[in-house]
Amino acid sequence: MIPAIAKSLRLLLVSTSVGPLGSGIGGGVELTLQNIAQEMRRRGHTIQVVAPTESVMGDIPIQGIPGNLQMMAQNLESDAPICMPGDAVLANMWEYIRTVQADYDLIVNFAFDWLPFYLTPFLTRPVAHFISMGSITQTLDQMMEQVAVRFPGTIGVYTASQAATFPFAERCRCLGSGIDLSLYEFCGEPGEALAWLGRIAPEKALEDAVAASHLTGIPLKIFGKMQDKGYWQQICWEYPQAPIEYVGFLSTKELQKELRQCQALVMTPRWVEAFGNVAIEALACGVPVIAYRRGGPAEIVRDGETGFLVEPDSIAGLVEAIKRLDEIDRYKCRQHAETEYSLDALGDRFEDWFKDILGNG
Ligand code: UDP
Repeated sequence: MIPAIAKSLRLLLVSTSVGPLGSGIGGGVELTLQNIAQEMRRRGHTIQVVAPTESVMGDIPIQGIPGNLQMMAQNLESDAPICMPGDAVLANMWEYIRTVQADYDLIVNFAFDWLPFYLTPFLTRPVAHFISMGSITQTLDQMMEQVAVRFPGTIGVYTASQAATFPFAERCRCLGSGIDLSLYEFCGEPGEALAWLGRIAPEKALEDAVAASHLTGIPLKIFGKMQDKGYWQQICWEYPQAPIEYVGFLSTKELQKELRQCQALVMTPRWVEAFGNVAIEALACGVPVIAYRRGGPAEIVRDGETGFLVEPDSIAGLVEAIKRLDEIDRYKCRQHAETEYSLDALGDRFEDWFKDILGNG
């Protein structure tokens, strides 16, 4: 008998419906999807991605689907109802999946949306759901829980802190994250500037990093998708003297060139960050991470060794940590990324998950 491990899987990976892949609107899940697609293909599995039109992801085959984009979930109230626009790309994507599902062994959903969970029992192929955020609305939590109960083992998350935000925490499988380390170059001798990296949106609390930059006088370079212009303008208005620079949303290649020259990455999320891919991207460049002690970053950063964990929402704590950056050995940061967050290790965890779901693990 051929060992199960040798079997090549046909995987249909379904992207987020909030924006095209490559736009940055989807946040860290765009990078995670790309990494999984790339690594599964390297392992001999057949990959097809379904995503909104205009998506790009290197040479990975993408079936682009037209339609109106889904609203971002991040700022919804916990009792918000489920909403979808007319001619929704989300609905169109799942209609497409319904028609092609027989050609695949497993559907892997990366969208943080109610519909894919609702549709799971109606499909003839199994669905693995990778949840990329912590709890936002009760309605979505309830639907995810129904799937978690009815299809045990099919719910994957990044971290335990993320899982703990859901009423079905113990039914989640923690898969962590990982990156292609060969794309990130080590830099042992950085410049003075600090980096802040991510979607510019209130849940990321950029204003705290700007306040720390203002207090210390150390320049802060800001990279990421400009998601909320009004929020950004408010920050500029509050801190007109802060030595900050918005660089823009860069490709991984360009981003790591800039990031690696920074003294540290400052992460200030107000919400429970599910993971924080930017933390491991920084570590891969040898850049220490200063982060609030909550959510994913608190599970990533080794306090005092690869960065500092600071009391949540404490700007004084950020300033203190910035002053202690010379205690950190940047080689240890790179090493940390190599031992914990390689694509290979991520690939093993996802492949085992897929095989367990298909009953041939
Ligand atoms: N990012 C990027 N270019 C930039 C800034 C950010 O490609 O100039 C990417 C970064 O690599 C990461 C994502 O944006 O994958 C942010 O993801 P994270 O997991 O930190 O947070 P999320 O946006 O999912 O809440």
